[in-house]
Amino acid sequence: MATFDQNPSTKTDMTMTPEQSFQALKAGHERFMAGKSRHPHSSAHRLKQLVDGQRPMAAILSCSDSRVPVELLFDAGFGDLYVVRTAGNTSYSDTIGSLDYGVLSLGIHLIVVMGHERCGAVTAACTSEETLTPALSDLVGTIRSNLKRVGMSNDVGAACRANSMESARSLVHGSALMQERVKQGTLRIEAACYTLEEGAIEWLGAVS
Ligand SMILES: [Zn+2]
Repeated sequence: MATFDQNPSTKTDMTMTPEQSFQALKAGHERFMAGKSRHPHSSAHRLKQLVDGQRPMAAILSCSDSRVPVELLFDAGFGDLYVVRTAGNTSYSDTIGSLDYGVLSLGIHLIVVMGHERCGAVTAACTSEETLTPALSDLVGTIRSNLKRVGMSNDVGAACRANSMESARSLVHGSALMQERVKQGTLRIEAACYTLEEGAIEWLGAVS
């Protein structure tokens, strides 16, 4: 199995298939769950290797929530993950543009859209009494649209999962580049949900 901590070369990540990248991510998370994190690629030497460029092995679209530290959850280090974070891991123009860059210029072939339980942004989307700023209202509106598409009510736990799936689907629908790569099988987009209490990542499946 390919693991991104065994070989520090920034070039080897390009040779990994989407499945190998996915297995490497899962392996990193299993180490974290088992209390056996290796904290790879955290040295000054690794930083020097990355000065001329980056070849991350996966992209993660996650929530900005401070309880979801992406590199720690996947036992990853400098240069391993290309991370885009918004409250509620929403897919809109800036998010899609950032991930388009990752796919087009950095050779990303695996994207994980990872929501989490008890997400404040999703909770706001499930309720209507909160006073929001215009920008926050737009963001929550994006989540509400996701939930409306799949007929969700106000079950926040289910809504967090549904929002991850819909956000992942929105990447495919919102980017001709990602749509084409997914169709070709050179890009895989997986949805996931981080369970706060257990610390485990629940894999929800790939989208197309
Ligand atoms: Zn959140």
